[in-house]
Amino acid sequence: MKQKIGLMGGTFDPIHTGHLLTAEAVREQFGLQRVIFIPAAQPPHKQGRKVAPAYDRLIMTEIAVAGNPCFGVSRIELQRSGPSYSVDTLRELQQAHGQEAEFYFITGADAINELSTWHEAQHLLEICHFIAATRQGCALDLPRLRREFGESLVSSHVHELPTPELEISSTDIRRRVQEGRSIKYLVTAEVEAYIYKEGLYS
Ligand code: ATP
Ligand code: MG
Repeated sequence: MKQKIGLMGGTFDPIHTGHLLTAEAVREQFGLQRVIFIPAAQPPHKQGRKVAPAYDRLIMTEIAVAGNPCFGVSRIELQRSGPSYSVDTLRELQQAHGQEAEFYFITGADAINELSTWHEAQHLLEICHFIAATRQGCALDLPRLRREFGESLVSSHVHELPTPELEISSTDIRRRVQEGRSIKYLVTAEVEAYIYKEGLYS
């Protein structure tokens, strides 16, 4: 039987309840056996800002998902040198899990709308599925995707997730820490404790 595995990539700076709730909703609705969180390697700059060390982002991701037996974390993009392309990540994971594994990339609708700008986008869409979580009023641009990748590939490999939008972002959490405001319930209690213990974002 095919094993269905969700992949959630992100900077996770820090990982928050929006990520966790989305991953769990996708897992349930699409009948995935597992969801693997993949922290991205250190980008030189993200929106002109320094990103927390990869080690801290990895630890926070690990402690955030520890309580869910269906969740796991992969260091695959942290261990690779040079630019990280999703298509390379997928090839490596496919090799590690075997041909029976079927992968579902979970991302925001805004990211999927820009799929044509990704490295080897057409091939990537052929070898895995995408699940678009809509947020901040950003709808999936299906006409554009159909034009770029063809009707049948898009209808079989691009899926939408009907969940309510959660106005939680890592940007807001970092700002709150800086301003001394509460981040309780926006991140798990363990991640909250880690942020304060390590003095992140202050
Ligand atoms: P930042 O504010 O620093 O951009 P972020 O909150 O967007 O951080 P990322 O690590 O960039 O978090 O996001 C990783 C993935 O999770 C992306 O695909 C993003 O679209 C998705 N995501 C982020 N926040 C939410 C949320 N509240 N609900 C659903 N998906 C989310
Ligand atoms: Mg973001």
